[in-house]
Amino acid sequence: MMSKRNSMDRRDFIKASALGLAGVGTTLAAKPALAGQASPGETPKIKSYRTLGRTGFKVSDIGIGTSQTFPTPVISAALDAGVNYFDTSEGYGRGAAERSIGEAIKGRDRKSLFITTKVRTDGLAGTAEVAEKVQQCLERLQTDYVDCVMMPGPPTAESVKSEVYHKAIEELKKQGKVRFSGISSHGSRQPGQGEPMENVLLAAVDDGRFDVVLVVYNFLQREPGEKVLEAAAKKNLATTIMKSNPLGRYYDTKNRIEQMKKDGQPIDERMQKSMEQMEETAKQAESFIQKNGLKTPAEIKAAALKFVLADPRVHTLNLAFNTFEDVQNFLPLSGSGMNREEKGLLASFERECGALYCRHACGVCESACPSGVPANTIMRYNHYFEAQGSEKFAMEKYAALETAKADACRTCAGFCETACPYGVPVQTLLCLAHAHLTLT
Ligand code: SF4
Ligand code: SF4
Repeated sequence: MMSKRNSMDRRDFIKASALGLAGVGTTLAAKPALAGQASPGETPKIKSYRTLGRTGFKVSDIGIGTSQTFPTPVISAALDAGVNYFDTSEGYGRGAAERSIGEAIKGRDRKSLFITTKVRTDGLAGTAEVAEKVQQCLERLQTDYVDCVMMPGPPTAESVKSEVYHKAIEELKKQGKVRFSGISSHGSRQPGQGEPMENVLLAAVDDGRFDVVLVVYNFLQREPGEKVLEAAAKKNLATTIMKSNPLGRYYDTKNRIEQMKKDGQPIDERMQKSMEQMEETAKQAESFIQKNGLKTPAEIKAAALKFVLADPRVHTLNLAFNTFEDVQNFLPLSGSGMNREEKGLLASFERECGALYCRHACGVCESACPSGVPANTIMRYNHYFEAQGSEKFAMEKYAALETAKADACRTCAGFCETACPYGVPVQTLLCLAHAHLTLT
C-alpha cells in the first residue's frame, strides 16, 4: 500500500531536483502553460512568504500539515527549501506527529518556524488541565513554546466562547508558552450534533479572541470558505487552509467496484443502480483526463492547489509531506498564480466531475440518514486515506468512530444521495470507503 509513496529517497530527490524530474515537475514540463514547475537544474524553493495576519509572522505560502508521523529527512528537505509553517495536533497519531516535528526541528532556528498545535479542551474542568495538555505538547515538540494553540472543531458557534479555553490560553501567553490562539472546524462530527463550519468559524472571527483560523477551502467547495476568509480579512486574522486538494484516486473507482462484486459483498438492486451511476461518473473523469491531454491527476491537483494559492486572503496551505515526491511536487507551486488555461481546466473538471467529491464540512445529507451514519466525517477520513496518503491515520480514526459505520449503507435505500444538493453518489462512496478503511 505504501510502496509507491516511499519510492524516492533523498539521493534520488537531489538527483531529480538537479534534472528537473519527478511528480508535478515532470508532468508540467510537458505542458509549459501550467506554470509553476521547477526548471531543470533547479532545486525547488519557497518563492513567496505572506504576512500571517495579525501575528505579523512571514509565513511560507506552502506549509506542512501533519496528521501522522513522517520521515524526518523529507521534512528536513522541505525546511531546507524554505517551508516554515507546521500544523499538527496532540491527537494526530496520539502525539506521534508532534514527536516527529520535535525531531525534525532539532538544531534549527526556532524563531524562524511557526508551529501550530491543537488541544481538545471540551470536558476539561479548569485551566490547569489545559495547561497540562499544552505542556505535554511542548515536551513532544521539544520546544519551550508553541506559536499557536488551536481549539479543534468546536461543535457549535456558542462553544467557541469556552471560558476555560480562553482563560487558559491567556495564562499560557503570559508564561510565554503560547503566542497566539487559533481555531479549526470541519462542521459537525456526528449527525444532528453540531453546526456547519462557517457558523462556527464566523462566530470565532466575531468573538475577537482568536488570531488564526484553519478553514476548509478548495475549488469545488468555495462558498463557506470564502465567507470565513472575507470576515477574517476584515479583522486581519491569519488564515490557514486545509483540504485545498479535493481530488481523490478516482482512477481506481471502477476496479474497486469490481473488487467489491468479486468479494461477494451484499449489493441489492438499489445499491447496484447507485454503483452504475458511480461508474458512469468515473468514466466521465477518465474521458476528462484524456480530452484535456493530461497525463496524470497530478496536473489537476497542481491547478487545484494554485486556485487556493492565488487567493490573496489565504496565507498558507497545510499540505501533507509524506515523501520526497511531495517536496518535488508542492514546492514549485509556491508563489504561482493561475493562468486562463488552468482556470478553464478547473471549471471544466467541476462541471464534468464535481459530483465525485463529497464536500468537506458539509453534512447536509446527514439528517436524512435513518441509521445515524456520519457521511461527512467518514468521507473526510476517506479523503485522508485517498488524497492525502494518510492510510493508517484514516483507518484508526474510522475504527474509533462511536457512531454507526458505513457497513449500514450496503443495503440501504440511499436517502443521503437523494438529499445531497451536489449529486454526490455518496452511498457507493461510503461503501467503498468502508471497504478500504476496514480492509474488508
Ligand atoms: S454527500 Fe453531499 S450532502 Fe452529504 S456531506 Fe457530502 S456533499 Fe454534503
Ligand atoms: S446510504 Fe443509507 S445508511 Fe448510508 S449514510 Fe446514506 S442514508 Fe445512511
